Amino acid sequence: MWRAKTEKKIFKWKNEIVSEQLYNSRLKQRVNGKKRKIKDKEEICEGLPEGIRHVDFRVIVENLYCIKCKENLFLRNSEGEKRRGLGSFLMIRCETCLYLNSVLTSQFQSATEDRQSMFDINARCALGAIHSGLGCTQLNKFLAVLNVPPLSQSIYKRYEKIIGIAVEAVAEESCLAAAKEERQLTVEKMEELKKLL
Ligand SMILES: [Zn+2]
Repeated sequence: MWRAKTEKKIFKWKNEIVSEQLYNSRLKQRVNGKKRKIKDKEEICEGLPEGIRHVDFRVIVENLYCIKCKENLFLRNSEGEKRRGLGSFLMIRCETCLYLNSVLTSQFQSATEDRQSMFDINARCALGAIHSGLGCTQLNKFLAVLNVPPLSQSIYKRYEKIIGIAVEAVAEESCLAAAKEERQLTVEKMEELKKLL
């Protein structure tokens, strides 16, 4: 009796045959590595931050309280800053319970399984740069004059990519809407022409 030969799947990693277990573990490491690279690099500084920052008043006012004892926090008690592009987390010590709080300076979206973390201001900055035809270098020259810390090349590129996808989606939507309008107008004109004939 003829019996089909079951073929064993071969797993290869960098041109070398490896076990399925090793292959899966390498794959996991690669995915996790990519995830890590996606996160913005944080610039950490101690003491009161120097220079000018973009601050969303509503966000900072809503967050200026201690998460432990609920007492008010004061900017004068800032002990450091974790900066990601133009957005920051201010490290502010509570005067009552001495807990070191992390306070956002502008809108921030935490990472989810299918979305990367992002600061609203960085996305706006990338959009503004694209809109005015600036690259990362020109943008940083502009920010330097304002005494605002620069955006690193990697952060700028990441947000440029995010904005690029959004811009393309909006453009596609506009094209579809324009095509629909064009079609509607043609139909209307045809009706008018038919009446004239
Ligand atoms: Zn407190």
